Amino acid sequence: MHDMVHEHEWSGDIVDITPRCPNCQSTRIEPRNYAQRLGGAIGAIAGSTSGIALALTGAEIGLLAGPVGAMLGGVAGVVIEGIVGGATGCAAGSKLGAAIDKNILHNQLCRDCGHTFSDRS
Ligand SMILES: [Zn+2]
Repeated sequence: MHDMVHEHEWSGDIVDITPRCPNCQSTRIEPRNYAQRLGGAIGAIAGSTSGIALALTGAEIGLLAGPVGAMLGGVAGVVIEGIVGGATGCAAGSKLGAAIDKNILHNQLCRDCGHTFSDRS
């Protein structure tokens, strides 16, 4: 079989998604994602908190319909808004954190030599 490629330089044609250590060229790279994890956690808390705030508004509206309405409105509001707000906040926070990881922090850790570097070369 004839080898068409034969030591051809691939990087111009194919985007190599495997990150390599700029220090030792190892592919044993581990993303640290500190900001992404932190952002997700903060986003979840912020989202849940704003969801609960909205739920309290629901409880106030419910008060107009009587105590039962307040309870149902409040509970449903906390559950729904808390979950939706938390998930939305977590997703937004993770996205923001991932952008910070990618652009600002040295997000990649080489497991062979311990060198840290950012995704962007
Ligand atoms: Zn390395």
